[in-house]
Order: sequence, then C-alpha cells, then structure tokens
Amino acid sequence: MAKRLSDWRMVYDEKYITSHYGEMSSYRRANGMQAHSGTDWARSLGTRIPAIAKGTIHKIQYSSVLGWVVVQTAMDKDGIIWYLGYCHMDKKPGYKVGQKLRKSQTVGILGNSGQSSGPHVHVTASRTLEGVFGVTSDKVDVYKLILANVKVPVRQKPVVAKAPEQAPVPEHTPTPEPEEAPARADVAPTLRPPRRRPPVKDISKLGRFWHLFSGKK
Ligand SMILES: [Zn+2]
Repeated sequence: MAKRLSDWRMVYDEKYITSHYGEMSSYRRANGMQAHSGTDWARSLGTRIPAIAKGTIHKIQYSSVLGWVVVQTAMDKDGIIWYLGYCHMDKKPGYKVGQKLRKSQTVGILGNSGQSSGPHVHVTASRTLEGVFGVTSDKVDVYKLILANVKVPVRQKPVVAKAPEQAPVPEHTPTPEPEEAPARADVAPTLRPPRRRPPVKDISKLGRFWHLFSGKK
C-alpha cells in the first residue's frame, strides 16, 4: 500500500508574501493594534485563490473587518483538523457550506473587501472556528503550518483521545509478584474494620434463637 502523504501547498509563491504572522509594524503599534494574525499574500485583484489543502467548506461570512471570508477545514499529517480562513475576498464565493474541496481548487477570488489597504488575501489557521476570526493568540502561523504539511507522510495511527488502557494479559504470562506493583506511598491503605458480631457470652441462654445472633442463617 502506498504511503499516504499530507500534501498541503502555499497559497502563492513566497515572493508575494507582504506580511507574516505575528508582525508588529510601527503602524500597528501606533494604532494600538494587535500583532498580525495571519499571513498576507498580495496579488492583483481577481486572481483566483487556490485551496491550501483538500477539505470541506465550513463557513462563508462577511465581516466589516475581514470582508468576505471563506473557512475550510483540512486535516494535517497528525490527523488534526484545522480551520483555514481566507479573508478580504472580492465577492461572495459561489460555494455552499459542506462542499468538498480538492487541494488547489479555487476557493475564492482575491479582493480588497473589508478593512484592507489593497488587494491581498489574509490567511489564518486555528484549531477552532472562532479562532479564525479571533485575536492572534487563538491562531497559529499558517505559513509554518503549511510548511509542516507539504508532502510529509501521514501518521498511521489516528489521533484519538483515549483513557489509558491496560494491555491485555496473555494467558500464559505469570501474574506479577506483589513487589512489582507500583509503590503508592502517598495513598493510605484502605483498612476495613473486621465484621462485628453481637457479643454472645453464653449462647445456651439464647436457646433456640442463638443462631439469629451468631451470624448463621
Ligand atoms: Zn493580513
């Protein structure tokens, strides 16, 4: 069986990047803005935006700040689902939520909608949908995330949160000696008081009812 590859791609060539994630320009500082929360690629208006990875259209939304935004989901090499947001699109994309995307398929048209100083696409990545639209601390550097997922083998074991399980003991494995049990010095041993029986000094005085007190049934 061929090894599966996590095959993501950069939106455009590196030379089109005009601002990286986390950048704090003097303009941002002067205006009390947060550090840059995504990666900007600037191309001419109307350039098609290719999908970074295969996935599903998760949300299409207009915001006064980010303009037309499309959010897709994508799985990384570790089986983790990411929300990737493409912002400032030229117009509302003709997709429906739930529609599948191939890698490189046009996810929208590059624009200048929302608070944008020129045609570019602002791309963000987050583990949550809210994070795509939220502050910088909710996101990760999408550029680095893409680099980590360009043609790399997919982890074979899926990431599933599981309570630790005891390995099944084969039939012929000898039972470990008690000394091998982990020391639990921090836990006081549970002591059960011995079962009490009513004091019966002289059962002969109880006659035929002695058994009621002796614990016999
Ligand atoms: Zn940006």
